[in-house]
Amino acid sequence: MAFITCIVLSILALTGIGAAAIWLGARWMHAGRTRFGAALVAAVLILLCNLFLLTVKMAWDDAHPPNTHLEFDTRIARSVLLAIVGLVGSIVIIKVAMKTSLAKAAFAWLLHGVAGLGFAVLVVRPFLLESYVIPAASMAPTLMGWHHTAVCPRCQQTLRVPHRTRALPGDDKRLTVAICDNYHSFDYYQLNGMEIEESWQPQDRLMADKTSMPGRWQLAVFKYPDDPTETYVKRVVGLPGEEVWIDDGAVWINGQRQTPPGELRDLEYLSGQTIAGSEVYGRKDAPLLLGPNEYFMLGDLSRMSSDSRFWGPVPRDAIIGVGALRYWPPSRWKVLD
Ligand SMILES: [Zn+2]
Repeated sequence: MAFITCIVLSILALTGIGAAAIWLGARWMHAGRTRFGAALVAAVLILLCNLFLLTVKMAWDDAHPPNTHLEFDTRIARSVLLAIVGLVGSIVIIKVAMKTSLAKAAFAWLLHGVAGLGFAVLVVRPFLLESYVIPAASMAPTLMGWHHTAVCPRCQQTLRVPHRTRALPGDDKRLTVAICDNYHSFDYYQLNGMEIEESWQPQDRLMADKTSMPGRWQLAVFKYPDDPTETYVKRVVGLPGEEVWIDDGAVWINGQRQTPPGELRDLEYLSGQTIAGSEVYGRKDAPLLLGPNEYFMLGDLSRMSSDSRFWGPVPRDAIIGVGALRYWPPSRWKVLD
């Protein structure tokens, strides 16, 4: 819930700062109306207008799955179009709300934009919240990249068949797998003959909470240790100082078999040996002892995940925050932490 408070406070702060900027701009330009209340109404309307345009952009993105070709120019043209609508819309809102000319409204809009963007770039993004688009399937079914759906033969829930974007050590086509919303997974051979929907389901978008550190079974957003320019999302299974290994479909911590909580209870983990042979971390015959600042991270779709089994623990410094909210597409909206 701290995360929801964080979102609400960020929106209130952004609106307040925007309103103050419009109000100052209107006073400076001697607009026909200079009440703070009017500036506040304008700031709220501008926020709603921009949220609407953002939604349109995400819906447009969803209409173009990985196997359809969209001209680069079309993407640029769409972004420019949305930016122009946002600009004109905001200036007209300020013009009407503050009873002033278009030129003066444009000046107030500029102040509003600089203040709002400054707050977002200098405060919200580095310290509070950041949004990510999920490209791959290693966290399926919790977080999905582009995928097809089918019906799980075991529980009749949605089965998700990921679009493959990344290969693992020793990977080949037969490692194409699917996983249902109750974490029942199926391999290439079991998928044969199943009826899979032709249509594509879009990529999930995730909001990360940067004000807290992830605990066990929570989603961690972190910099990939082997290439810090890449951002990964995985589930935390091992905490600093713990001895960890994977065996019999489960994570073992200090010799104790761990059962994931609630709806994660059917989550099954494969030992890295099954996929890549012996050169992996967290084996039963060679447990990994985590250092005082190290975490062990695993993907939910164990068979397709590149995680701590293959590249080792993640240092505390590399952790950006907790994956807290799956906010898009709307049908997949869920608070995750
Ligand atoms: Zn199932």
